[in-house]
Amino acid sequence: MSKQDYYETLGIDRSASDKEVKQAYRRLAMKYHPDRNENSKEAESRFKEIQEAYNILSNEQKRSLYDQFGHAGISQETGGAGPASGFGDIFGDIFGDIFGGTTGGGSRQARGTDLEYQITLTLEEAVSGVEKQIRLPKNLVCQECNGSGARAGTQPETCETCGGHGQIRIQQGFFSVQRTCPDCHGKGTVIKDPCPACHGAGMVRKDKTLSIKIPAGVDTGDRIRLAGEGDIGRPGSQPGDLYVQIKLTKHSIFERDGDDLYCEIPVGFVTLALGGEIQIPTLEGRANLKIPSESQSEKVFRLRGKGVRNVRNGAQGNLHCKVVVETPVNLNDEQKQLLRKFEESLNKGGDSHNPKSRSWSDRIKSFFDEIVS
Ligand SMILES: [Zn+2]
Ligand SMILES: [Zn+2]
Repeated sequence: MSKQDYYETLGIDRSASDKEVKQAYRRLAMKYHPDRNENSKEAESRFKEIQEAYNILSNEQKRSLYDQFGHAGISQETGGAGPASGFGDIFGDIFGDIFGGTTGGGSRQARGTDLEYQITLTLEEAVSGVEKQIRLPKNLVCQECNGSGARAGTQPETCETCGGHGQIRIQQGFFSVQRTCPDCHGKGTVIKDPCPACHGAGMVRKDKTLSIKIPAGVDTGDRIRLAGEGDIGRPGSQPGDLYVQIKLTKHSIFERDGDDLYCEIPVGFVTLALGGEIQIPTLEGRANLKIPSESQSEKVFRLRGKGVRNVRNGAQGNLHCKVVVETPVNLNDEQKQLLRKFEESLNKGGDSHNPKSRSWSDRIKSFFDEIVS
């Protein structure tokens, strides 16, 4: 089945009137007619496309189906799909069904399209797992006609043009060529009295609410497949799958990298100098962290097992806490005095109190020595 856009093929607007459709068709058909383009394969295939497009767009019912459902609405494929792919429980094999990033689709039988839906989660939701309701528009079997497309009480009738075969034979020069029947598009049946609810498509587009269980540990870029929750191509065909794409919002405290979490904790320089215990946030609540004396700013403490549990193998990540010195502000005169006194006292000890400055000035010194020598 060709995937041409019929409006593009005819070079017209989606709002084009019947007259404009006809005019565009005449103009293009004249241009690409095989009689005028002998031995041009390109013109020949263009001519066929133009005919196909005109065939659909010149017919009010077909055009409306095409506008609503695209090629699926007028599909001529026979849906010879096998049984459902064995996911009785949509989360029967959740770990096998989570994909990091994109995956190869594998071979697809004639069936409906896969749908994608992006869901946004907080870090807490992603880490502990959550059940979410989503609403998405889907092609559903029309309840009025049970998918037949024919007005309730009537039936689709055998196509007279092809006698129900869906194919016709045309004589072309010496050859007899088999073609898809232009009247029933291969279905073998035609609808004389279309169902008013679905205009003969046998399906309608409606919002459907789904409940999705998100397993604990998912991350941005993960996909969850819900087998059979995609679109049906046409009534009776096997539906495609729904892929739920996970996206995490930014967290106010934690940054995540895989199973590990990172955070920065401001700590006063007195605590860093003398050591002490501080409270730090974790995903489960608060935890105590012992700061050894003489800790420098930017020191990273690792808390084993306080990260995220891996969604695939259950391994537990770590939490990395970086302590950052906090400069005191809004000091009163007394505090300023104390700090000045404190600094004087430090200066008496020379560089021995300042390990970083010491190594820094050593490096500066040897740098100049090298330049001088
Ligand atoms: Zn037919
Ligand atoms: Zn219907």
